[in-house]
Amino acid sequence: MRRPLLGMLLVVAACGTIGSPLITSGEVYEFRDVERGDTIVFHWPRADLPVRIWVASDSPIRSYVETAIARWQAAFLYGEFRATLVTDSTIADVIVRNTPSDIGNGLNRRAPQCAGETDPNINPATNTARLPMHVFMYAVVSDAIPGLASCYAVTMTHEFGHVLGLLVHSPSLGDVMFADPRFDGISERDRLTAITLYSIAPTITLTGRR
Ligand SMILES: [Zn+2]
Repeated sequence: MRRPLLGMLLVVAACGTIGSPLITSGEVYEFRDVERGDTIVFHWPRADLPVRIWVASDSPIRSYVETAIARWQAAFLYGEFRATLVTDSTIADVIVRNTPSDIGNGLNRRAPQCAGETDPNINPATNTARLPMHVFMYAVVSDAIPGLASCYAVTMTHEFGHVLGLLVHSPSLGDVMFADPRFDGISERDRLTAITLYSIAPTITLTGRR
C-alpha cells in the first residue's frame, strides 16, 4: 500500500449523512484516502450500476471474480453496489487480468501463493477516476500448490473491495480488507464499512465511461 493511512478516526457525521445511523469506530474502519490534505471518497454512482466487469471467458481466475462480485453484492441490502460480467472489454468499467500489473503503483497485495493489485485510477488533482479500472491477480507458485485457490478467493474479494471504493486497508486481521488478508469472505466490519461508504457523497467523479 503506497498511501499513508488516515488513522483511526471516522467522522461520518461530518460527511453530511443526515439521518444515517451513528456508526462507531469499532464497527467500521477508515475507507477514505487523503491526498495532499484532501479527503478522497469514491464509490460507484447509482446511475452507473451495474458496474461492467470484463475477465477473459477462459481465465483461470474468472470464478473468483464471480465469487467476489456475489459476496460484495450480498453485503448490501438495497443494491447499492451491483456488478455484471460483460463479454466486450471495450465497454468494461473494470478489466480483470490473470497477469502481473503492467501499470504499477496501485493497491497491491502479495501472499506466498498469489498476488493482486487494483488501480482505481483516481486523479486527486481533478477529483476524477478515469475508466476502466484495472485489477490484476496472478499465481506466484505453480498451479499444483495447495493454497492457491484459497489465496485467489481471498485476494479477489479484497481487490473488489478496492474496486467498490474501499481505498484504505482495515487495521484488523479479521477483515478481508486487511492489508495482508487471510479472511475468506466479508466480515461484518467489512460489510458495515462498505455500507457507510455508500451512504456518503463521493468526492470523485467518473470519466471515460462508454
Ligand atoms: Zn489492498
